[in-house]
Amino acid sequence: MIWNKEQECMPREELDKLQLSRLKDTVSRVYDSVPAYKSKMDEAGVNPRDINNLADLKYLPFLTKQDFRDNYPFGLLAVPMRDVVRIQSSSGTTGKPTVAGYTQHDIENWAELMARALTGAGATADSIIQITWGYGLFTGGLGGHYGAEKIGAAVLPASGGNTRRQVMLMHDYGTTLLGCTPSYALVMYEEFLKSGLDRSEFKFKSGLFGAEPWSENMRKEIESKWEIDAYDVYGMTELIGPGVASECACKQGLHLAEDHFLAEIIDPDSGAVLPYGERGELVITSLTKQALPLVRYRTRDLTQINRQPCACGRTHARIQKILGRSDDMLIIRGVNVFPSMVESILLQIPGIEPQYQLVVDRVNNLDRLEVQVEVSEQVFSDEVRRLEELEARISRELDSGLGIAVRVRLVEPRTIERSEGKAKRIIDNRKL
Ligand code: AMP
Ligand code: ZN
Repeated sequence: MIWNKEQECMPREELDKLQLSRLKDTVSRVYDSVPAYKSKMDEAGVNPRDINNLADLKYLPFLTKQDFRDNYPFGLLAVPMRDVVRIQSSSGTTGKPTVAGYTQHDIENWAELMARALTGAGATADSIIQITWGYGLFTGGLGGHYGAEKIGAAVLPASGGNTRRQVMLMHDYGTTLLGCTPSYALVMYEEFLKSGLDRSEFKFKSGLFGAEPWSENMRKEIESKWEIDAYDVYGMTELIGPGVASECACKQGLHLAEDHFLAEIIDPDSGAVLPYGERGELVITSLTKQALPLVRYRTRDLTQINRQPCACGRTHARIQKILGRSDDMLIIRGVNVFPSMVESILLQIPGIEPQYQLVVDRVNNLDRLEVQVEVSEQVFSDEVRRLEELEARISRELDSGLGIAVRVRLVEPRTIERSEGKAKRIIDNRKL
């Protein structure tokens, strides 16, 4: 099923034309109404009149997460606050989350994109859709919710957590489609096994999963355990939230909503645009966003673009499942964690050496983060009780700073491996 055939199956030529006119409009708007864009473009010696075809995009400067930090919280908004109807922000960053604003029109477009994604995953007006992404500042819950309502499905706004109740809702209310993180789908499966309920009493048919990387193997596992079809949905707070790209029944890459977003792939080191089909960092320009238009935003997500026609009939290009990043951001239980955040928290605590390592494991399908921290010789020779206190304090500070539960292990001086080049801060043992 296709939600919006006219847009999703638009012939390439028409799509190119639409993209160009929307691109010109976006570039003029940011130049005129966002000082940060104007100064970046002036510095690069380009202005909106230089954009005469899609390939001219490459002359424009990139926008990065640093620009979000520099303009925190609302400096990148292109409309006055009176036109903003919603603010969402990204998970997990200390002090300065990434903030997104939406006009009414942006919210409607976002709902449209999630309606497409959910339809791609098999949803119809007859579906009962359980949204188990978190509701709140995180974009998952409300994004999924509005999309499901737009389709006319019945939405269960379950939000995250309380797995036992989630399984009960699925069973009692006859959930047909589940939207959550892929890892949580497996956690729910374990709870289902524990519940002793009979699978034949569930109406569960498919799932739309995203907000964190997951491999083909993980898909197979979810599909065979739950006996459902599992589809991938991609997005990020800055771009709009989930729904920027999503899978169709072919499950051969995620159709990127090309009427709303223009994608490029660049070499993350040189910034050069790579030809179609090559793997690199995804750079996104928004084409319809009003409150927070993005021009050449570096997502840091690694993928490749496939423009081959898809058997489903959609013409929009597909991006390959996203499994890696060009920076060191970790996604732990859906929360974005940068080693630098851990570092800045640790360094505020006396008695700690600036040597630490993040060890990530997946235990019973849930991510677990352990932070190993070296303590000074003096601290290490202290009484056990003092060490335990220190461990508890670090653990508290990291929990509240990162927004996720962290295990802390103090290690003896000079036990964390030193590297000659970049320090190896992350040991990721998750088999995605
Ligand atoms: P947030 O803004 O907190 O929603 O985080 C967005 C980031 O989550 C993206 O930049 C990706 O790195 C990751 N992400 C979201 N959806 C997916 C997905 N379907 N597959 C892989 N990574 C994803
Ligand atoms: Zn398709």
